[in-house]
Amino acid sequence: GLPPYDDANIFARILRGEIPSKKVHEDEHALAFHDINPQAPVHVLVIPKGRYVSLADFSTQASEAEIAGFWRVVGMVAKDLRLEGAGYRVLTNIGSDGGQEVPHFHVHIFGGRRLGRMVA
Ligand code: 5GP
Repeated sequence: GLPPYDDANIFARILRGEIPSKKVHEDEHALAFHDINPQAPVHVLVIPKGRYVSLADFSTQASEAEIAGFWRVVGMVAKDLRLEGAGYRVLTNIGSDGGQEVPHFHVHIFGGRRLGRMVA
């Protein structure tokens, strides 16, 4: 299964301010910031402030306020960055088969160009 939450992961360090990030939005529940290695003209990561490794951890352990607050930020960032017009993609990688590199639950927001059709 997935590893337990590790407070030394890079996103935990960003949340603690130990590593700088280019913030798009921050509130009590979530932080949105630009990916350091962007794969599209817009590539933003949104993370909850709580300690969750995966979507399943987040969905089953977070409070309703955290869950609502997190998804509100995902949608708000997409709107604020004007992605709703041309469209965009939201993605989360989970675990080793899912290609997750940072073990703190996050979603990617990609936009600003025509994205390839994703089959898997
Ligand atoms: P994953 O593969 O876990 O879904 O994606 C992790 C993402 O985090 C990658 O797109 C990677 O570029 C990004 N990333 C890794 N380290 C840092 C960092 O220190 N700062 C920022 N802003 N992004 C990072």
